[in-house]
Amino acid sequence: MNYKIFKIRTSHNLSGQRSILIIYTGGTIGMVHDETGSLVPFNFIKVMERIPELSKIEVGLTVISFPKPIDSSNVSIRDWQALGYIIYENYDQYDGFVILHGTDTMAYSASALSFMLEGLAKPVIFTGAQIPIGNLRSDARENLITAIEIAADQRNGTPLIKEVCIYFNFGLFRGNRSQKVKSSTFAAFESQNYPLLAEVGMDINYNEAILAAPNGLVPLRLHQDLDDNVALLKIFPGLNKAVLESILGSENLKGLVMETFGSGNIPNEPWFIECLKKAVANQIIILNVSQCSGGEVIHGRYETSRKLSEIGIISGGNITTESAIIKLMLFLGSKKSPEIIKNLLVNPMNGEMD
Ligand code: ASP
Repeated sequence: MNYKIFKIRTSHNLSGQRSILIIYTGGTIGMVHDETGSLVPFNFIKVMERIPELSKIEVGLTVISFPKPIDSSNVSIRDWQALGYIIYENYDQYDGFVILHGTDTMAYSASALSFMLEGLAKPVIFTGAQIPIGNLRSDARENLITAIEIAADQRNGTPLIKEVCIYFNFGLFRGNRSQKVKSSTFAAFESQNYPLLAEVGMDINYNEAILAAPNGLVPLRLHQDLDDNVALLKIFPGLNKAVLESILGSENLKGLVMETFGSGNIPNEPWFIECLKKAVANQIIILNVSQCSGGEVIHGRYETSRKLSEIGIISGGNITTESAIIKLMLFLGSKKSPEIIKNLLVNPMNGEMD
């Protein structure tokens, strides 16, 4: 693909100062209204012209723009592979990375990158905006400038953040713990099962005890094989047998994230359990996550989840749905056997669950 690369003129003096690679994928941050009134992605050079403050930053800034910026509702596995590849290829040249991305699927993309980039020991900070940068009351300026600052922050010559995060509305979240929870306020993201990595006010206050601390001695590895033969099923009262059977009987289905009630409960009528049992016997891996964004799945806490472990369904603990789907895609992409994948799924891979 034809990526556009350009440098932004800043106060960077090239002598020992830090350099950050910004990757622009699209999203509201750079959108404008088209002739029908809908928001559509826009050229990033024009976007940057709206933030003259960037020229005052004492950090070297290089931008790589997706050839055709996207609304993140269109993000695909191929885009994650492209993002992973750009970071992998440029890893040694930059101190940190900022990814400008739409908010709709930012938590999926941040989860994907957190698992695809094994051994990451530099900051990869996703950010975006709820209001386009061209609008007077946009949140884009603050989000972008602070994301750059966080990506450039170091202690004793090493990056402070060594993981994939989302920075949004004065909060720094672990990427694979976050979820978009609001579409019409600036506080779009939450991470119910993990504390904020940093809170931003007059200062950036890092919660240093809970930051990922890889030793940085293992070389970065990029995992790019994701299998999309997965599905997400949200259980609801009244879900009937024919619908359940047709989802579980989908052609080529290999993995299912099942969003259940509360601490992992389902309607435990015999026909429901039988359908799930049959799917497991057909080598479909079923991962149980909660519909509640806070709390965790505990098989057997209630009678309505007692049978699940017994019939081979895996508890996702307190993982987010977004991380659960990506983990399934990656493990299935690794072509390991269902039994090995099931053993891998119960353990944290990169700070996404306890
Ligand atoms: N639809 C937009 C997107 O995800 C929403 C946003 O950026 O906030 O690209």
